[in-house]
Amino acid sequence: MPNEYGNYVDGEWSESRTAETFAVRNPANADEVVARFPDSTTADTEAAIEAAVAAQDEWASTPGPERGAVLKAAGAELEARKDDATETLVREEGKTRSEAAGEVQRAIDIFAYYAQKARDLGGVVKSPSGRNKELSTKREPLGTVGIITPWNYPIAIPAWKLAPALAAGNTVVAKPASAAPNSTRILFECLDAAGLPDGVANAVTGSGSEVGAPLTEHEAIDGVSFTGSTAVGTTVAQTASESLKRVQCEMGGKNPTVVMPSADVDEAVEILGAGAFGTTGQSCTAASRAIVHEQVYDEFVEAMVEYAESVEIGPGLDDPDMGPHVSESELDSTLEYVDIAESEGATLETGGQRLTEGEYEDGYYVQPAVFSGVDNDMRIAQEEVFGPVLAVIRADGFDHALELANDTEYGLSASIVTQDLTEAETFLDRVEAGVAKVNEKTTGLELHVPFGGYKQSSTNTYREQGDAGLDFFTSTKTVYRNY
Ligand code: NAD
Repeated sequence: MPNEYGNYVDGEWSESRTAETFAVRNPANADEVVARFPDSTTADTEAAIEAAVAAQDEWASTPGPERGAVLKAAGAELEARKDDATETLVREEGKTRSEAAGEVQRAIDIFAYYAQKARDLGGVVKSPSGRNKELSTKREPLGTVGIITPWNYPIAIPAWKLAPALAAGNTVVAKPASAAPNSTRILFECLDAAGLPDGVANAVTGSGSEVGAPLTEHEAIDGVSFTGSTAVGTTVAQTASESLKRVQCEMGGKNPTVVMPSADVDEAVEILGAGAFGTTGQSCTAASRAIVHEQVYDEFVEAMVEYAESVEIGPGLDDPDMGPHVSESELDSTLEYVDIAESEGATLETGGQRLTEGEYEDGYYVQPAVFSGVDNDMRIAQEEVFGPVLAVIRADGFDHALELANDTEYGLSASIVTQDLTEAETFLDRVEAGVAKVNEKTTGLELHVPFGGYKQSSTNTYREQGDAGLDFFTSTKTVYRNY
């Protein structure tokens, strides 16, 4: 019997009002149900919102260092449970053990970081335009916020929203993605064990319509922080804006890495391989377009194919190079894009087939795919695939490469591989992306600097992580004193 878990509402684990549940499956072995979670209703979501609203004043007036102490203890609790959390993450999302351990460590570090930040919220003091006056600002919590998260980083993303929200004195209702709610559950168990007061953070599982949508509509919700697809994020932003909620959406990407002739081609291949096939290509920042100068194009394609064919694929618990897709629908979507690319005239150099024999039989495995001869206006170069598929596009010079890099509706992460300083600096200045890198993969983020996208990758209202991560969750009050 799989473990059955509840919603976390007002400090209690409880089933949905209908007692309905849904199954979470192991992507490496779809016959294995790893857990069941409440298939909650709008009424369950509203109860969680009420609990969060009731807890708001007390949590907001709790001194910052005390709030920080709870976050610190929750991070320590997660550290003590790191192996459990890592294995739970692998079993529901499919990523490799190393990738999962890195993600859990990220959540631990995020809690430690914002535990400290809770002491430092502060404000500014300015010179008043008159005698016997004081002029200053103070940062206050936004209030009660909704947090809606995707399945692909099911512990790190909830952590990077929850920790700054709680540090700043907000109360929270979180909605994890249904493909991977089990890692988020551990985060809430850690907060509970750390002594977080009842109602301050709540988690409700279920569909986007019954749990996600009410968070964007309810009058008591002051802000919505969403990460997920551009399609859903657009609806979230529009709905939340109707009632003038503060809203932040971080969404999809179609991230380019430019390879110039001065690059070491082997290094470029390592960078692209890690960026495109790491986490099975299921990262918003995954490299999906290699824009390669014609002088090194053929050499690059040949080496990239060799790299793709060397990727060891298997169950995440065995810690291969690449695990399965998270679900059958994600696998099918990748396979469909492989067909679309071929029908549009791109050349499939390697991979793109489902693996079905032996240990692959019951999992959602696909070989990493490399396409050459891709035009940037093909769907494979414009739409987010969210799988291990790399489109290699030919550029006839630096300006052309930059133009191709920017010729996308997305703008999340972008990198260039070059030894030419002018190319590197010009790229950093002109690329239309929220994250720009030189000689690095498009994936991989530091937690203490801002993260977010341009164009359709983000509402671009606020950034996440670092100091900027607190901005979304605070309001500024300007104070005038006359004595
Ligand atoms: P998704 O958009 O399908 O779902 C995201 C969340 O929204 C889920 O919890 C879902 O249940 C919920 N939801 C669905 N309908 C809703 C509605 N009408 N109202 C409110 N909530 C609703 O995304 P996904 O498949 O879980 O995740 C993959 C996507 O996330 C990719 O596009 C990826 O690029 C993106 N992503 C972006 C970032 C980033 O920081 N930019 C990070 C990770 C993932």
